[in-house]
Amino acid sequence: MQKLFVTDLDVRGKRVLVRADFNVPLQGGEIIDDRRIRECLPTIQWLMENGARTILMSHLGRPGGERAEDYSLQPVALHLGQLLRRDVPLANDCIGPEAQAKLQGLADGGVLLLENLRFHAGETANEPEFAQALASLAEIYVNDAFGTSHRSHASITGVAERVAQCAMGFLLKKELDLLGGALADPRRPFVAVMGGSKVSGKIKVIENLLDKVDQLIVGGGMSYTIFKAMGLEIGKSLLDEGSLEDAAGILEAAEALGPGRLILPLDILAADAFDNDAVTTVCPAGEIPAELEGLDIGPRTIELYGGIVREAGTVIWNGPMGVFEMPTFARGTKSVAAAMAEATARGATTIVGGGDSAAAIKAAGLSDDISHVSTGGGASL
Ligand code: AMP
Repeated sequence: MQKLFVTDLDVRGKRVLVRADFNVPLQGGEIIDDRRIRECLPTIQWLMENGARTILMSHLGRPGGERAEDYSLQPVALHLGQLLRRDVPLANDCIGPEAQAKLQGLADGGVLLLENLRFHAGETANEPEFAQALASLAEIYVNDAFGTSHRSHASITGVAERVAQCAMGFLLKKELDLLGGALADPRRPFVAVMGGSKVSGKIKVIENLLDKVDQLIVGGGMSYTIFKAMGLEIGKSLLDEGSLEDAAGILEAAEALGPGRLILPLDILAADAFDNDAVTTVCPAGEIPAELEGLDIGPRTIELYGGIVREAGTVIWNGPMGVFEMPTFARGTKSVAAAMAEATARGATTIVGGGDSAAAIKAAGLSDDISHVSTGGGASL
């Protein structure tokens, strides 16, 4: 891979600014899931062992560009200190005199955490002055915040443009190796499962995957825009008008690649309301009555998709098959999760692109039965 990895660099005695993703869920000031912190430990530990002066930065929640104590990274500093068995000081501000002063006291092998990046509006706006202030703290920049890497924020793209040496950390490398490896040299059949509500966010990925996979399975809200583009009846189902042309393009591209490449639902679980207690009807896909909306894939589709996933050599999955937040419409998503776990047990490589699909895998208690659950939803796409 033509990308620098942190271990390619001589970091001893250097100030290394690491963009981590410590955006952990908090309840009453307590961290209720520390996975994101633990995922970054290999990079931090390697830097400590190799004598770097490690400066960690992250966002937490959405404080909206101003200081808000509820979004302080103090709990993260404490928890990280426990995991590393050493004191991790927190600089009260991520830039300016406070950060510079704390930096002076940082010894080789030491670790400093900067306060929430999003206390400054310049972070999400990628303001040059803010990016420059961050960049001025360090000689080396390491990106290990995979889940945020698709965002053009100051701490991601702005800093990378302003620090002489940039490299990826262990987590970013692991994600790129696994996601990239699946695309470069997949065990076949190679199957992609795409779901979720928006076609617009996934159109480029679908276009990009179509000629690489053996089968691309579509479910969830975005399938209706494709059905509409085929001139079929979708009733009151979700429609992304602005993506109709793109959907037609996908259909055309799939057809050119031959039959069986793009797999669409056979039947749909439709409802008379967007409600868990709605009256439901199974109808053939493309024949949804005008007063109903499709909220999950139907039983024949569940069987078809499950069979394809179970027989695959490699599966990548992003996006739910229905409105899985409501139990009535969660069956399709749950069945894909279960089929992924079965495929893994049979020796397939299975990858779940974060977000809702990762949540569904977790809710089903199957996180350990998947080859890789990515730490980023949008980023993995
Ligand atoms: P996305 O952010 O595009 O991955 O979409 C995820 C969301 O899609 C979830 O909140 C699901 O509830 C929603 N979704 C999936 N299928 C449908 C559907 N048939 N109708 C409406 N929303 C859906």
